[in-house]
Amino acid sequence: MATVKALEGRTVHQIQSGQVIVDLCSVVKELVENSLDAEATAIEIRFRNNGLDSIEVQDNGVGIASENYETIALKHYTSKLSHYDDLSSLQTFGFRGEALSSLCALSKFHITTARVDEAPKGTRLDFETSGKLKGTQVIASQKGTTVAVEDLFRNLPVRRRELEKNIKREYGKVLGVLQAYACISTQARISVSNVMAKGKKAVVFATKSSQSTRENIANVFGAKTLLGLVALDLSFEMQPTKTYSQLSEPENKQVRVLGHISRPVFGEGRHAPDRQMFFVNSRPCGLPQVTKVFNEVYKSYNISQSPFIFANIVLDTNAYDVNVSPDKRTIFLHEQNALLEGLRVSLVELFEKQGQTVPQSQK
Ligand code: ADP
Ligand code: MG
Repeated sequence: MATVKALEGRTVHQIQSGQVIVDLCSVVKELVENSLDAEATAIEIRFRNNGLDSIEVQDNGVGIASENYETIALKHYTSKLSHYDDLSSLQTFGFRGEALSSLCALSKFHITTARVDEAPKGTRLDFETSGKLKGTQVIASQKGTTVAVEDLFRNLPVRRRELEKNIKREYGKVLGVLQAYACISTQARISVSNVMAKGKKAVVFATKSSQSTRENIANVFGAKTLLGLVALDLSFEMQPTKTYSQLSEPENKQVRVLGHISRPVFGEGRHAPDRQMFFVNSRPCGLPQVTKVFNEVYKSYNISQSPFIFANIVLDTNAYDVNVSPDKRTIFLHEQNALLEGLRVSLVELFEKQGQTVPQSQK
């Protein structure tokens, strides 16, 4: 049998980075979240060749202080979280300090940044694959930060090939994620463009500043989308179940669900399922069980259409855990069953109150 020995540091870094940056979506998600955490009010996402050649995220946020240049891309260096206890009261998207370090390991990567007192002078930062700062260069830059990721997965041939093969689907998924950020972010304008091989640039969508989520939806999906929507504003309390009650109990069991949903009687066209966006305290996330409840209740009123859903679940930060997977995609709701039950009841109430059609099952 072969001797058991420790993996080389570089190999470990590559393996772990591949768990944080699993696909094109994770790159974009991490970078946009960093820009939002940096209090940006304008974020521009630029793809080249659907992201295969490069992804650039430019923001007008606070920028990076020069004393942090050395550490910014080192693993587990973060300006956002210092103690494990802070996790439950976390207000930022990031907290692991892994995204930039992972991107150094998996792509050609550089940053341009300028703080407000430095602009119009800025600094370009280049890094080694380990995340160590390789060099800096003074260049012109507006206030804010631009992160450029080229040739993603260039050193993981199998992943690179997969990405190339599935790029259309991957890019579509990325747009879905960006639509969610663009719709929920009322504090920031978000614009997305893509330059294809022949140099043709297409603006994919753009939101404007100081808008409501309703106006964001109109800017992202077209004004027509608003026609069939009604406001979602549900309030209920989670009744704890036996299974989950031994876990750390949130003090506040009140839940509010805010957003927009198709009116069940609205008859025009079919809403594509990718126009269903879910958030927990404004953090975009996939919530399969919540999605299921929404669709089931909706179906009992309107069997022929699938609804447009934009739902932000507002609840106590102790009531869920975002630290489940390295890519922070999975959210663990401590009282999921109680939440689902409350949601189902209030959704039925909402549709009933609107005096809509009788439920399909009673017809
Ligand atoms: P995390 O977001 O978990 O802290 P990252 O690796 O994503 O980890 O980022 C590391 C650090 O780099 C952040 O804590 C932040 O201080 C800084 N940073 C990253 N992106 C930006 C940005 N767009 N503007 C300002 N600072 C940034
Ligand atoms: Mg981050």
